[in-house]
Amino acid sequence: MNTKRNDIRNIAIIAHVDHGKTTLVDGMLKQSGIFRQNQKVEERIMDSNEIERERGITILAKNTAVTYNGIKINIIDTPGHADFGGEVERVLKMVDGVLLLVDAFEGPMPQTRFVLKKALALDLPAIVVINKIDRPDARVNQVLDEILELFIDLGANDSQIEFPVIYASARDGYAKLDLNDTSNDLKPLFEAIINYVPAPVGDPDAPVQVLITTLDYDEYVGRIAIGRVFRGTIIVGQEYAVCKKDGSIEKVKISNLFEFNGLKREPAESATVGDIIAVTGIEDIEIGETIADAEKPEPVPYVNIDEPTLSMIF
Ligand code: GDP
Repeated sequence: MNTKRNDIRNIAIIAHVDHGKTTLVDGMLKQSGIFRQNQKVEERIMDSNEIERERGITILAKNTAVTYNGIKINIIDTPGHADFGGEVERVLKMVDGVLLLVDAFEGPMPQTRFVLKKALALDLPAIVVINKIDRPDARVNQVLDEILELFIDLGANDSQIEFPVIYASARDGYAKLDLNDTSNDLKPLFEAIINYVPAPVGDPDAPVQVLITTLDYDEYVGRIAIGRVFRGTIIVGQEYAVCKKDGSIEKVKISNLFEFNGLKREPAESATVGDIIAVTGIEDIEIGETIADAEKPEPVPYVNIDEPTLSMIF
């Protein structure tokens, strides 16, 4: 029987480079730290920054989780460019809603159009966040009109077009529902996510399906497969089957399971419907493959990664 995970929301952020995604996620991490476990989160952000600085790459993790009022919000980064058509689609399959983050001066950019189009086509609800409203050259109302036009142009359905709008300054750490309000925190953004993005639904007793959508690598544990539990409950130490892309089945034992907390992965004994997890120990697993029940292995359908997409962007 299907159950609803009211304690989880899974969202993806769609944003053009420099519109403030990293700053916003950092702000959300800091605030969920203030609401929950202040010091630890601060340390985590710094740890991560240091590591990322060493590697010379963006500080935004592909997966981040923040907790607000006891609800875990998994935040998934989307590939900024559309060179990986299939990847965008799979990443969007992990979530139940998206944040479209747009600079209050620059407005929506063509590069995010493709990802938004995919999200709308997948029937995902979108929350629009107009960021950098503190900019002296901000042109908030015009930008909002441009976003509305974009939604219409991309064929958004009636409910998608009635998107909630959050006006934010990620840099200054505040968000509000109305430009004339005063706000000194990101609470309105958290509330919009909780209220507008549906909680994951699925059958925790069905045969397991975990769609792998991202790969990571760690020098100690090797390949890390990240994905969402679509149905069933996956348990450490048990045997499962990997439905490979070539149609073959490979038996595997899950030795380590992790959930996301802040920017860190934390060990878990089991995970169920709606959870976003990382699994180690399956060396040859690929993006688009499914970890499934050992007796009844069934893959989650996925789109072909070679799908031509560039011509569809502009
Ligand atoms: P990302 O590429 O989308 O991750 O963007 P960043 O978070 O790295 O932000 C890009 C630049 O915009 C940085 O210099 C930020 O300090 C700045 N920025 C981010 N949010 C705001 C904001 O709300 N107001 C202003 N004025 N600048 C911001």
